[in-house]
Amino acid sequence: MSAHKTIQTTCPYCGVGCGVEAIVDTEKHALTVQGNKNHPSNFGRLCSKGSALAETIELSSRLLQPQIYGQDSNWSETLDLVADTFSRTIKEHGPDSVAFYVSGQLLNEDYYLANKLMKGFIGSANIDTNSRLCMSSSVAGYKRAFGADIVPGCYEDYELADMIVLIGSNAAWCHPVSFQRIRAAKEKNPNLKIVVIDPRRTASCDIADLHLPLKVGTDVALFNGLLNYLDKNSGCDKDYIEAYTEGFDHALKAAAHDADLATIAAYCGLAEQDIKLFYQWFTEHKKVMSLYCQGVNQSSSGSDKANSIINCHLATGSVGKPGMGPFSLTGQPNAMGGREVGGLSNQLAAHMELSNPEDIARVATFWGSDNIATKPGYTAVDLFDAIDEGKVKAVWIMATNPVVSMPNADKVKAALQKCEFVVVSDCVARTDTLDLAHVKLPAMGWSEKDGTVTNSERRISRQRALFSAAGESKADWWILTQVARRMGFEQAFHYTSSAEIFREHAALSAYENNTKHGVRDFDISAFSEINQQDYDDLQPVQWPVNAANPKGTKRLLADGQFFTPSGKAQFIALIPRLPANLPSKAYPFVLNTGRIRDQWHTMTRTALAAKLNQHKAEPFIELNPDDAQSLQLANNSLAEINSAWGAMVARVAITESQQGGGVFIPMHWTEQFASLGRVGALVNPVVDPLSMQPEFKHTPVKIQAYQPAWQGFILSRRELQFEQPAYVVKVKGEQFYRYELAGNESFDDYSLWAKNQLCTDTAGMPQWQEYQDVSQGSYRAARLLDNQLDSVLFIAAQNNLPERNWLTSLFIKSELSKEERSALLTGQPPLGTPDVGQIVCSCFNVGEKTITNMIKEKALKTHQEVAQCLKAGSNCGSCVPEIKALL
Ligand code: SF4
Repeated sequence: MSAHKTIQTTCPYCGVGCGVEAIVDTEKHALTVQGNKNHPSNFGRLCSKGSALAETIELSSRLLQPQIYGQDSNWSETLDLVADTFSRTIKEHGPDSVAFYVSGQLLNEDYYLANKLMKGFIGSANIDTNSRLCMSSSVAGYKRAFGADIVPGCYEDYELADMIVLIGSNAAWCHPVSFQRIRAAKEKNPNLKIVVIDPRRTASCDIADLHLPLKVGTDVALFNGLLNYLDKNSGCDKDYIEAYTEGFDHALKAAAHDADLATIAAYCGLAEQDIKLFYQWFTEHKKVMSLYCQGVNQSSSGSDKANSIINCHLATGSVGKPGMGPFSLTGQPNAMGGREVGGLSNQLAAHMELSNPEDIARVATFWGSDNIATKPGYTAVDLFDAIDEGKVKAVWIMATNPVVSMPNADKVKAALQKCEFVVVSDCVARTDTLDLAHVKLPAMGWSEKDGTVTNSERRISRQRALFSAAGESKADWWILTQVARRMGFEQAFHYTSSAEIFREHAALSAYENNTKHGVRDFDISAFSEINQQDYDDLQPVQWPVNAANPKGTKRLLADGQFFTPSGKAQFIALIPRLPANLPSKAYPFVLNTGRIRDQWHTMTRTALAAKLNQHKAEPFIELNPDDAQSLQLANNSLAEINSAWGAMVARVAITESQQGGGVFIPMHWTEQFASLGRVGALVNPVVDPLSMQPEFKHTPVKIQAYQPAWQGFILSRRELQFEQPAYVVKVKGEQFYRYELAGNESFDDYSLWAKNQLCTDTAGMPQWQEYQDVSQGSYRAARLLDNQLDSVLFIAAQNNLPERNWLTSLFIKSELSKEERSALLTGQPPLGTPDVGQIVCSCFNVGEKTITNMIKEKALKTHQEVAQCLKAGSNCGSCVPEIKALL
């Protein structure tokens, strides 16, 4: 009988940092998951991604062995090669000729060691993180205002607030459990005002009292206007401003340019009365929370946007008190932890700065290093430019996929293709970046790793190992330790456990952190001597955790003591700046990129779970109906999108939620899943001058119909490889793979091509059906094996193809009925067979047609009634906005 054990761990996806209770069957390598009811960040809730974690632990997609130039190797030989090559490159070209590019997916312990090795011992600060792409503007904003990178509030404030403003945040899809908590707070307290500020009408608007669809990049003018309004309407807390802040008059003077409502309305593309209502509400409500995310951060004025929000909270004295304050939501599970260990190339560990010689000396002494970096290194965009220019000759990329996620991603790809030595650590065998690696290092994945992560509210939680390591995979901290030792740094990299590293990380946070040397905000000194057992048992806790606050600290800065030289918070005088590259005649549309509900980052793990692939199966471009009409693009057709940097092809989705002149394309698809679907290739490599965060939310593009000679799809029980069609999208389903296809050249012999694709295995008793209409350019085929559906193929000159839902549902059947077999090539279910339609609820696999039929049949009025009848929307709640739209 299999042994089961229950282990509390943390979800590896977004910055909400939900606690997960895993029931583990080690013998069968199987898992069931549910939310940890005692974790204060989610109290038992999980979203669709967290709920599907058990489906992502399969081993077939894993990198299980070290590889050198495409050949399996062993750890000893591989580590020697990595260490020798980095050492030789440094000897020949200096420490700045090497670099690390790391990730918010790393655990604190991994992240700490990567930073220690590069900055402390190699002697370069050429280590940057993919967190640069998602939250460095928030870091810059907090540091300018508070003197330190501090998120002052916590999730509990959702329930205590009178008003919550979501700015550039589609929390309903990107931080679903936080959004559900806000929804629940509003249901309990209908007076709680919700304002959504976002160019798109997103799912988060479902609970909004007011939606301000501002033009991309105009946030500073909107919040400058608010500062003015607060001043003119007795909304400012003059005593607070006087006692605890500096620079108010300068900020107000700068904001005077944006004092007039009509001017702001014209600049931001908003209705005057809506702006006024927002300003009135902000002024009237005492407890206002501003939650902001990538729509603020991913901008060439991202730092200014963050400070324009913080300015308003300083003006009202609403910082760090219950139910109020500026709160940046972190994208990744451990983006916050990366900030703590100094993962950004301009930071040192434990919230110390490379710009401060005393901090440099302090960290060097603590680490026992005589070779510490003394100047900032390359930030993400600069780093790949430096690789392209040959300045960086050896790079080690850990747990991230920059060939997909970086702006101007084709240039990043080209840079890595010509780089002399590329090392990539990852847990999966294939990514667009791994495909370019000279050395591949198999890292443990979630469910094997053991360490800590820090979420958006400064809460440190344990991510615990559920299974032993797959194949030869190792912990990232172990790999770093071994390379460091081989580079001659044995003394400083003696670790044998993640607990030992966490202890040192905590001890550094305490080191010379006092009134004599200067008090730093990041302080987890309570863990400086933590033993293995206590580390294993560590409960979620918010830093600071020290002698004064042994149980952690919910909120910071409420006492008005800040970490600036004067001890006072700083207002920042801000002049709005439009995005760096504006639309032109050649590129008239504005591309906005972002996440979708059921996928995470570059899909390496979420795409393993069939149910997460059904909601949005293909790369898509959302367009306003008027724009679609002027471009003569039909819904569900294909469009080619070009910018000055790159091109891609995506499926057209026409929606009123998109403003005219703007389009939205998700960030997730890679060449592993879509041959022409990398949106990063289009994104302009413009960065914010302070945070160096790229402007992912605004790239001028042009759009035209993509007109292939044919379109089609294949559903196959087996995974297939294609060479011919230009457009291929792979979607994993329940016991099948779906391939959406489009080709630029017609086939001489469709039947031959179909058989070449689908009939390569010879097992069983295959039956073959086919149908061709040459005049229509239409071809259909189906292959059955022992009465079970093996594959179907549909091709049409135009995109008049059947829906896929009924056909995909046949793959779970052990045998097809006579009626089903007869109906196969029509693509339509036999009369009387229900078609579920497009999947809306991923948790319970409930389709749109099932929901609409039930709504009609039972005259349902609310999403709660739908949940009672079909369970749809009753688990993670992420699909509730879509269910409400169907009602
Ligand atoms: Fe994971 Fe979803 Fe929670 Fe984010 S909201 S941590 S993705 S379960």
